[in-house]
Amino acid sequence: MSKGNIGVTSDNIFPVIKKFLYSDHEIFLRELISNAVDATQKLKTLASVGDAKGELGDLRVRVLIDKKKKTLTVSDHGIGMTAEEVDRYINQIAFSGAEEFVQKYKDNAAAIIGHFGLGFYSAFMVSKRVEIFSLSYKDEAEAVHWTCDGSPVYEMEPTIKAERGTDIVLHIDDEHEEYLEDSKVQELLTKYCKFLPVEIVFGMKKEWKDGREQETGEENVINNTQPAWTRKPSELTEEDYTKFYHELYPMQFDEPLFHIHLNVDYPFHLTGILYFPKIKNNLDVRRNKIQLYCNQVFVTDEVDNIVPEYLTLLHGVIDSPDIPLNVSRSYLQSDAAVKKISGHITKKVADKLQELFKNERADYEKKWDDIKLFIQFGMLSDEKFYDRATAFALFRNLDGKYYTLDEYKDLVKDAQTDKDGNLVVLYTQDPDSHYAYIRRAREKGYDVLLMDGELDVHVLSQAEQKNEKLRFSRVDADVVENLIRKADDKPAAEPLSPEAEEALRYSFEALLPEPDADAKTSYTVSLGQAGADSLPVFLTQNEWMRRMKEMSQHQQGMAFYGSMPDQLTLVVNTAHPLVRTLSDELSESLAAEAAPLREQISAKQAEEQQLRDAQKDKKADELTEAEKQAVTDVTKQAADLRKQLKDLYAAAAKGNRRISQLIDIALLASGRLKGEALDRFVSRSVELLN
Ligand code: ADP
Repeated sequence: MSKGNIGVTSDNIFPVIKKFLYSDHEIFLRELISNAVDATQKLKTLASVGDAKGELGDLRVRVLIDKKKKTLTVSDHGIGMTAEEVDRYINQIAFSGAEEFVQKYKDNAAAIIGHFGLGFYSAFMVSKRVEIFSLSYKDEAEAVHWTCDGSPVYEMEPTIKAERGTDIVLHIDDEHEEYLEDSKVQELLTKYCKFLPVEIVFGMKKEWKDGREQETGEENVINNTQPAWTRKPSELTEEDYTKFYHELYPMQFDEPLFHIHLNVDYPFHLTGILYFPKIKNNLDVRRNKIQLYCNQVFVTDEVDNIVPEYLTLLHGVIDSPDIPLNVSRSYLQSDAAVKKISGHITKKVADKLQELFKNERADYEKKWDDIKLFIQFGMLSDEKFYDRATAFALFRNLDGKYYTLDEYKDLVKDAQTDKDGNLVVLYTQDPDSHYAYIRRAREKGYDVLLMDGELDVHVLSQAEQKNEKLRFSRVDADVVENLIRKADDKPAAEPLSPEAEEALRYSFEALLPEPDADAKTSYTVSLGQAGADSLPVFLTQNEWMRRMKEMSQHQQGMAFYGSMPDQLTLVVNTAHPLVRTLSDELSESLAAEAAPLREQISAKQAEEQQLRDAQKDKKADELTEAEKQAVTDVTKQAADLRKQLKDLYAAAAKGNRRISQLIDIALLASGRLKGEALDRFVSRSVELLN
């Protein structure tokens, strides 16, 4: 027997390993099984080049639990180690046998996992003692037994071992007894080893028989050694891809929409399959994530720094020995290989979408609603992807037809270009609420897009930025005549007299809905001419303010807009016969009282103008206090008179059920009449019918 000190520079390395090496203690199992798989793959490689002779025999790796002895054993039939190799590879911690091996068998050793650094030593995170029993494949090798209790002191002696390979026996410590539970070990094996290239066995397969679970005579193999991503796309059918998707996510019952098989050799190695899932809601999105593997060993499903954020919405696997593992996340982000990988994946995804769009457009359109969130997210967050995606990002109109932006521009440009050469694209988020506006737009021969997606408001703003002379406008942003102004626009009716306009404005203003308690909506009155066939009064909502508000929901730093009320404009359509009659009545009924007030206002305004004219050549500091005061006084007098005029109309309007009725109809037509106001409207309607 030999005793010795493990070749580390400090006595304190073990406690460090135990505590800090891996925050996840459970990965010890992954590390040991990876070593066992490596040893097995090495043996196969050696046999293939004639360096290992004889039958290879059973190459399965087995995980065994002995609850009484409190041990967990990982046992392989790989190349094994001689005493000298144990000394070199295990005792001299920094010496990575795998690295040496890769150097030697460079071209044949693609399947060597040894990338995890201090792999074997992670066993000490959960054990009070670790033993190695190993018999090398080499002719006349002597079996060796190594044992170590976690201090830097080890013991090594010859032993008897019948079969080639290595058993690593962990004497699990008291704090980690969960690793002696079948269910826990099964769970870890499923997580980390599901797709390892060598069969991993854990106990016997169980079966339900006679009302209870019974062991069968068959070994319980944990893994699929040839997962789809390691095979050639030409060997795989659609069904194979779908089957693999469900193997990857056993709890996901939806079918994926389509897949992308990744296969890169240069300048880095990467294989994998990405799936476009059906995205139903935000909750769903994050549940199943892309899984990262390194030579078929599961590493993580936190791939945020390896693929662009919008691609994390995809499902599937990426397998690359070139992604540095066990390094900090910020390091990953700046790593050149990782950047290249991310760029490559982005390109592949865009290629695939482009290909589907081109070759199977009908099918692609059917899937559009399910993939649009993902594509839009990509367009908004990645310029390069945006440039590619304009060729296959779709817009859907109210007839359910799909267009790329370029196709859509062609479709509507004749009808919807305004007098200044702007192409105005009309859209709605809610066809039911905007029904009346949509009907009016369609009557004009305009088309309306459905933009009800979560990111649509951002998408249309982006399209405006990227396309000169393109504007998006929600159908209710203004009277349709104003949304797309034409050179040959003619007023629908004679303009009203200023008196009649004033009468209308003040009367409607007096009856606007009271601002609600939390001031979520504010109204202003505007007079305008819409066609005589549109509603006498209707609501519009300024496009820009509304959009800012909607965008603020997703964007930081825009909270200011979020807190603004909805600003609605009550448009009184002065071309409508009903409004014209009403304005005649209103201005006539109060003409006697209003006329003298108007005269006084005009007089005051003239006086103000005179004063200003007299002062206009003087600089501000040359004016006397008296001169300044004179202007202030006359302005105030004019304003007071104007208020009297307003009050006059307001007082008369108060009892005017027709004005209230018209305002309520406008609210009703845009889905904003609710609760008490709706009840009042209904009662008033009944009264008016009497
Ligand atoms: P790494 O696997 O990263 O090289 P480890 O500390 O896990 O680092 O292992 C060190 C070396 O010990 C391995 O490279 C390998 O040569 C040897 N080794 C570990 N486990 C086994 C095993 N089960 N069979 C044969 N050799 C092994």
